[in-house]
Amino acid sequence: MKMSPILPGSTLGVLGGGQLGRMFAISARRMGYRVHTFSPDDDTPAGQVADLEVCAAYDDLDAVAKFARHVDVVTFEFENVPAATAAAAAKFAPVHPSGEVLQITQHRLREKTFLRQHGFPITDFEPVRSLEDLRCAVKRLGTPAILKTAGWGYDGKGQIDVRSPQDVDSAWEKLQTTEAVLEAFVVFEKEVSVVAARGSDGQFAHWGIIENDHHRHILDTSMAPAAVAEKTAREAIEIARGVLDQLNVVGVLCVEFFLRKDGKLIVNELAPRPHNSGHLTFDASVTSQFEQQARAVCGLPLGSTELLRPAAMANLLGDLWLRDGKPVEPNWIAALAVSNDLKLHLYGKTEPRVGRKMGHVTAIADTARVALERVLAARQALHAGS
Ligand code: AMP
Repeated sequence: MKMSPILPGSTLGVLGGGQLGRMFAISARRMGYRVHTFSPDDDTPAGQVADLEVCAAYDDLDAVAKFARHVDVVTFEFENVPAATAAAAAKFAPVHPSGEVLQITQHRLREKTFLRQHGFPITDFEPVRSLEDLRCAVKRLGTPAILKTAGWGYDGKGQIDVRSPQDVDSAWEKLQTTEAVLEAFVVFEKEVSVVAARGSDGQFAHWGIIENDHHRHILDTSMAPAAVAEKTAREAIEIARGVLDQLNVVGVLCVEFFLRKDGKLIVNELAPRPHNSGHLTFDASVTSQFEQQARAVCGLPLGSTELLRPAAMANLLGDLWLRDGKPVEPNWIAALAVSNDLKLHLYGKTEPRVGRKMGHVTAIADTARVALERVLAARQALHAGS
């Protein structure tokens, strides 16, 4: 169904207050939109740059209704918003991507079931609702395997490696949940992602294949274009197109993959919003993933996703602000002096914590490898002299 476009000057509502909402708000405001954010916290990364920051609990459905009444469209930057919140908002404003997309992608079992039903390649898994289930699942899938909570997981939270059958009791005890999924461990050569957008008319756009490195289950660096065979890139993009079509996404969605040595792609997970691996599109592409989200949810024509130059991104975690448990100020001057094509992004978070994403640096260069070396050198320089 063709929606009537939501034109610049209108107000866009964002559920969630994190850095993805912040970069979305910056892009949307640049196009002349007003932005309202909704999250349980105040002075959030997104709220700081929005026209209005609403601070209320996600399950305060009266507050959600009031928020939705004052905006022209609702989107989200955080998929762990309860489905009831999206449904309450949808009574007063269009919600893109829809609550059904949210409902599937915020729950690993539903997401994996969807992927399997539609024939997308995934690693074998078993639902786990008790210690007994976990014992059976480990027997069937073998070890190593990864136990993940079914809901509310992100950045490696709610994940435990099960290295041998002896780990079963302690893994279940540690996970502290009633619903989980055990995944067969994938021996991969690299991790890659495709960030893609789909308009209300089915128009599809993607930023190609991005190569990612994780540390402690958290994204550490990304570079584009990924060093993969052309056939692999084509396949990954076709899988992404299929996922967005099958889910009828209006907005941006990222498909994360494992790439095995034999060239086989395995879908790891979906994120129904701009993704950390697509942050480099802000500085390196004609249209960033954030601007594209605004265009898609407003029913505007999608912009070109052309990568202007190879690029890389390195995350800056709260660890950089702490030395032996004491606060330190990272050396911004030394980092920016590494190269004049570095871009620094900080999210306005005042409380650095170990593992918390505080910002990132991007570099563009003649090759993705050189860009990667630059962001790594810049991050290293943050320690200099402090
Ligand atoms: P996730 O939050 O599920 O994306 O997991 C975070 C990271 O943990 C992934 O990007 C991988 O580096 C690692 N990981 C998760 N699941 C698996 C798996 N089944 N096999 C191997 N590594 C995994």
